[in-house]
Amino acid sequence: MEDRLNQAREEALARIASAADVEALRAVDRDFVGKGGVVAELLASIPSLPPAERGAVGKGANLLKREIVDAIAARKAALEAAEVEALRSGAGFDPTMPGAPVTRGSLHPLTRVRREVEDIFLSMGYQIADGPEVELDEYNFQKLNIPIDHPSREMQDTFYCDADHKLVMRTQTSPVQIRTMETLKPPFRVIAPGRVFRNEEQDATHEHTFHQVEGLVVGKDVAIGHLIGTLKGFLREYFGRRLDVRLRPGYFPFVEPGYELDIRCPFCEDGCRVCKHTTWVEFCGSGMVHPNVLRAGGIDPTKYTGFAFGFGLDRLVMLRHEIDDIRHFMGGDLRFLEQF
Ligand SMILES: [Zn+2]
Repeated sequence: MEDRLNQAREEALARIASAADVEALRAVDRDFVGKGGVVAELLASIPSLPPAERGAVGKGANLLKREIVDAIAARKAALEAAEVEALRSGAGFDPTMPGAPVTRGSLHPLTRVRREVEDIFLSMGYQIADGPEVELDEYNFQKLNIPIDHPSREMQDTFYCDADHKLVMRTQTSPVQIRTMETLKPPFRVIAPGRVFRNEEQDATHEHTFHQVEGLVVGKDVAIGHLIGTLKGFLREYFGRRLDVRLRPGYFPFVEPGYELDIRCPFCEDGCRVCKHTTWVEFCGSGMVHPNVLRAGGIDPTKYTGFAFGFGLDRLVMLRHEIDDIRHFMGGDLRFLEQF
């Protein structure tokens, strides 16, 4: 029995020493210390041995098992260290292989168009103004000539942020008009792009979160002709060509008179899906700033006049890229966003 133990030890250690990889070590483990391996066979043979030999063989087999397991672990560590050393020395490194690809993101189409709109208005001497998205009811409504009980509040389903209805998620960018009048002295020209929120039924043209661009110009003898000229100039820059506009009377509490401004459909001559076969596309609400609003902003309406306008940034992007559903913008679907 002594011979069989020694023979197994020599054979196992020789195979471990010459193992070229981890796979070869696994084979040694399987053949010697695994189920049905040499050590297991030796242990299984003990009951058939003379009682005097049994103790020594059992002890020897267990020692052998320990010895082989340790030798395999040591050889495995040596093989791994050699592999690391080979990588460090640069062997097998091919400098001509392409690097790991870096995936590039892109700007959201709303961000791109907002920046473009800002650039156009900056070139016309406008400043960019900003205001809070959680706004005081006072600024979102009251100072814009919309008192607490005004029926036009029903036109805008509002997310209120507190039980007293003093804080709202702004339903429009118009409160920035008041904040601007409180901080700047006329004459001034500002646009205020930003997110607005409405608690309304969502469909292809309505979303709880959307984007507006507010415009406000206040100075001496500012008139409606300036408003039309400004918006025509903007549209020419944005669409790259002249587009006819038309004014229709429109009601907004913070302007007097108020207008809806439509643009000639940029996509057709005689009617298409975008313009619902009318050749006109609704573009923005506008008008001369109501004297009450000027007063609320601390500006004397007997000395100064102003015009204001507000258009949907989402709509502008939808017109540019012929996108048919506003919900794509905030939907977070990468398949949509990766197209830009
Ligand atoms: Zn059309």
